[in-house]
Amino acid sequence: MIIVKKIGVLTSGGDSPGMNAAVRAVVRKAIYHNIEVYGVYGGYSGLMSGNIKKLDLGSVGDIIHRGGTVLHSARSEEFKTREGQQKGIEQMNKHGIEGLVVIGGDGSYRGAKALTEQGFPCVGVPGTIDNDIPGTQYTIGFDTALNTVIDAIDKIRDTATSHERTFIIEVMGRDAGDIALCAGLAGGAETILIPEAGYSMDEIAERLKKGHERGKKHSIIVVAEGVCSGVEFAKQIKETTNFDTRVSVLGHMQRGGSPTAFDRVLASRLGAHAVELLLEGKGGRAVGIQNNKLVDHDIIEILDREHTLDLDLYKLSKELSI
Ligand code: ADP
Repeated sequence: MIIVKKIGVLTSGGDSPGMNAAVRAVVRKAIYHNIEVYGVYGGYSGLMSGNIKKLDLGSVGDIIHRGGTVLHSARSEEFKTREGQQKGIEQMNKHGIEGLVVIGGDGSYRGAKALTEQGFPCVGVPGTIDNDIPGTQYTIGFDTALNTVIDAIDKIRDTATSHERTFIIEVMGRDAGDIALCAGLAGGAETILIPEAGYSMDEIAERLKKGHERGKKHSIIVVAEGVCSGVEFAKQIKETTNFDTRVSVLGHMQRGGSPTAFDRVLASRLGAHAVELLLEGKGGRAVGIQNNKLVDHDIIEILDREHTLDLDLYKLSKELSI
């Protein structure tokens, strides 16, 4: 049995609501087990420069409900190099840190994998609004982002109905359509465009025309940014149907806000599980949740896998929006 006395925690890449709840869980769980915890400020960039401070119970008080990350986040090209990673390891050795919890998306996981390969045990915790990390059904922040988008759709629907307009709502999701699909389904959108499925402009035009003939004069179309921009899609609709549309790009508001209860519970469970693994001397793991059970996988294996969208849900969204 390996006895770990000091661990570190950092948040990296795109921030997501619930990261603070995860940091809190890591800190409190470690202290509960008499382990010292160090916060690394500014992601891998702060790791290399040694922006590392000891955290106590109070330092994570009053953050469970806050969006963003108190540890701040950053992107660093230098950390992608072996020299950069060695700098990070040296800083941790200097502080006597023996294991690191990395909260972030797949880029951050690659950093954690690189450190583990060089002998420094890391555990990845999935923190991203995109829900695009394989090996977990949900990532921390996805549920909050989804609720932010649904709130926006509901509000836009009010004005769409009053003015009998078709609205195109562009949401985040470069490679993964999870936000667009779930928000579109929950928001009753007529059309949902996701990167995982092609679309036929003729079919969409036909639907809009049929709806119009039936007297339906408003409509909501949700487009994931990875398919095309809302403005571009509005142009395509105009060219095909001559219908005018209004475009709303939700942008970074999707990343902010107080995390939902679901994300806070998820973050607390995943953060604590990551500490348990480090205490067992296990590095190179990525934690997740499957059928409401905590799981962990080899981080290398996770990075080789593809995130898959629930295409049954996509089929259902089409059936319900006839
Ligand atoms: P996310 O974690 O949200 O996917 P990024 O892709 O920007 O965000 O990754 C965050 C950081 O992780 C990068 O700025 C970089 O420092 C580090 N990183 C990304 N890819 C690698 C890699 N292949 N090897 C080492 N570190 C990496």
